[in-house]
Amino acid sequence: MTFAEIGLHPAILAALTDSGYSEPTPVQRQAIPFAIAGHDLMVSSQTGSGKTAAFMLPALHRFASPERPATARPAERSAARPHGHDRRRFQAAQPKMLVLTPTRELALQVSAATEKYGRRLQVRAVAILGGMPYPKQMELLGRNPEILVATPGRLIDHMSSGKIDFSQLQILVLDEADRMLDMGFIEDIERIVAATPASRQTLLFSATLDGNVGELAQRMTRAALRIQVDACSARHDNIEQRMHFVDDLAHKNRLLDHLLRDATIDQALVFTATKRDADTVSDRLNIAGLNAAALHGDMHQGARNRTLAAMRRGQVRILVATDVAARGIDVPTITHVFNYDLPKFAEDYVHRIGRTGRAGRNGLAISLVHHAEHFNVRKIERFTKQSIPVEIVAGHEPTRRPAPVKPRPVGKSAWKSGDKRSQSQPSGRSDKRFGSPATPRQDGPGRAAYHEAAKGSHGGVASGSRRTYGDR
Ligand code: AMP
Repeated sequence: MTFAEIGLHPAILAALTDSGYSEPTPVQRQAIPFAIAGHDLMVSSQTGSGKTAAFMLPALHRFASPERPATARPAERSAARPHGHDRRRFQAAQPKMLVLTPTRELALQVSAATEKYGRRLQVRAVAILGGMPYPKQMELLGRNPEILVATPGRLIDHMSSGKIDFSQLQILVLDEADRMLDMGFIEDIERIVAATPASRQTLLFSATLDGNVGELAQRMTRAALRIQVDACSARHDNIEQRMHFVDDLAHKNRLLDHLLRDATIDQALVFTATKRDADTVSDRLNIAGLNAAALHGDMHQGARNRTLAAMRRGQVRILVATDVAARGIDVPTITHVFNYDLPKFAEDYVHRIGRTGRAGRNGLAISLVHHAEHFNVRKIERFTKQSIPVEIVAGHEPTRRPAPVKPRPVGKSAWKSGDKRSQSQPSGRSDKRFGSPATPRQDGPGRAAYHEAAKGSHGGVASGSRRTYGDR
């Protein structure tokens, strides 16, 4: 099925051709026709699957076809209007579509995609996010945009001061709903949804529809169609995965420096577990002559935007980021993702590596793994149903073996045993077998501390809130 066969508005088809999209991705093929027909949807799809267009194209199509009647019933409109609202005084914005996202970066990403897909239409889209000056946001809302893309907290501020009236809202999108729940936005979401007309169309996108997010989806949608994107399309088959064992922090830093000097890297994203590490690693790489910048939640939004813009312009080659800050980054020239620290949650691994291999390109994801974290690699492998080959770089061989792991099947392609390492040994790139005694043990002073840190940060099944992790 092509975009034209789906029946999208000609101006949207032209914008898609401009964007170089030749055919819909699986999630787009499955979701767009039903969304155009007005159904509520619960879609489980991974990052990088093309989900933004899956909800934005049907919306733009509807707004570009004014003969379609608005869906809100008059009684519901007045019920949704805030108390004491005086339109003459406040000139509240009356958006027709609201997209809620967990992070500022994702909100900016969605509004940039909206501009791209809607560039031949007269549709105004505005992003409302924390960290942006209020006067600027008031000015944006004053344009009465049809589409509002927002993070929950700042949106509630504007709702409370009567600057937004959802009575005309036709479409509500909850993007990365699982992450919004993980980040503790449930009450904000409930409050926002309660201010919208019951007649709205609701499209919920999430990596998973299990557990709490499944319950949320049931509550927020009406007779929703459930769309599960084929697992194969979420496997990141275009992204090669590797891991290297490291003995200690010094070994890890040396190896990272070495790997980042690979001439095939166009741009790279390096993930750290903490904000402090993002700064430290970025500083260290700059001192080493590598062009790096940090991105994390302690930075002001203006600084985050400037860093991302510099990355997009190619002025920054290496971005060192925490999970939270990196969410939503869509820079097609990112050829490599490095896990300087493993993520705490296996699904975050999928999200991280999906920052490369964007828009149909290939990518390489490399994890630097301490022996004590081997167990976490197994969790990731079980989650992705893919095994991650171990590689060794000549001159940077680890001196220790990881703790032995009982052979256990990994989905269809079973992880056979520790022998997997020798199977994946690339020819030409490495010259030593794992655990070669050729390199002396390095029991440097930082080693014990790192070992403890590895156990403390990553050594078990995660408990507690994800909000605190990945951007601590
Ligand atoms: P998303 O999952 O929405 O973040 O999209 C991931 C990437 O795929 C973005 O860089 C999009 O521009 C790109 N993309 C989305 N749909 C298509 C398509 N039909 N063909 C090619 N690239 C696409």
